[in-house]
Amino acid sequence: VAEYKDGEWQDLRIEPYGPLQINPANATLHYGQSVFEGLKAYRNEAGEILVFRGDANQRRLNESAQRMCIPEVPEEIFMEGMRKLLEVDKDWIPKQAGCSLYIRPFIFAADDYLGIRPSNNYKFMILTSPVGNYYSKPVAVKVETQYARAVEGGTGAAKAAGNYAGSLFPARKAQKEGYDQLLWTDGKTHQYIEESGTMNVMFVIDGTLITAPISTGTILKGITRDSVLILAKEMGMPVEERFLTVSELEDALLSGRLEEAFGTGTAATVAFIRLINIHNKDYVLPEKAAGAFSDRVLKRLDDIKYGKVADDHGWIMK
Ligand code: PMP
Repeated sequence: VAEYKDGEWQDLRIEPYGPLQINPANATLHYGQSVFEGLKAYRNEAGEILVFRGDANQRRLNESAQRMCIPEVPEEIFMEGMRKLLEVDKDWIPKQAGCSLYIRPFIFAADDYLGIRPSNNYKFMILTSPVGNYYSKPVAVKVETQYARAVEGGTGAAKAAGNYAGSLFPARKAQKEGYDQLLWTDGKTHQYIEESGTMNVMFVIDGTLITAPISTGTILKGITRDSVLILAKEMGMPVEERFLTVSELEDALLSGRLEEAFGTGTAATVAFIRLINIHNKDYVLPEKAAGAFSDRVLKRLDDIKYGKVADDHGWIMK
């Protein structure tokens, strides 16, 4: 825990996990001025703790904070807080293959005040939770063309609490229809595929890896997305960062040119997509071919995260 008061971050400390005392007028409860991150710590065979790309999460937290008018948490406080917490929580990192410790840093407004203005006080906290292997089952997704997750000029590029609140209703509707996740389209024309609720999405069409660009400010700058794109280029995979239209995706499915589709994110790493619903029609994806790109890149990423291969990119913090 650290607190922002009198214009600066201070009082970094470890507190036992437990309930917070919240005033009913707490600004976050009413106005949602809150941002968060998600990253993971792994254990290598020697028992050392490896944190994957924590510096990238630290930067993204502050980019999100800026958009939500929250004071940035200095790098030293973020890193020192995480180091101290992992020292206490290290035994919670499961030893089984595929398991890890999920780390959730977050910042929220701490003023007790009814009225729309940025808070003067904030709390920064980090909590952890052991997690198991996520990518056991391929997912069914539905292209959403009625509701929007993000619009240009909005907060879609920030990891802001409210983005997730606004997504719950359409996502629950799709889950009731039997789909695991939504594939969000742009909030204006609903013609361009953006991302899913917790993952960026990638498609392999005619041997090229295609994923939406992040330049519109409507898509979360996924750290797994960035890592997969870097590895893809190294693996000789042609990459295009461009928007795929819903009809282009449908054509690729109908003509058998869609080879693979998958989501990328910290929780799942790579989640294979087995079915895509477009305009109320279900398309089943082809069986993944041996040596599929998504299998190879998942293995490569896992090998880096668990310290099984050299960390050529400086992605691992010990
Ligand atoms: N998009 C959204 C909306 C997300 O919540 C996440 C999870 N943080 C991602 C994409 C994937 O980002 P990352 O690879 O950094 O986990």
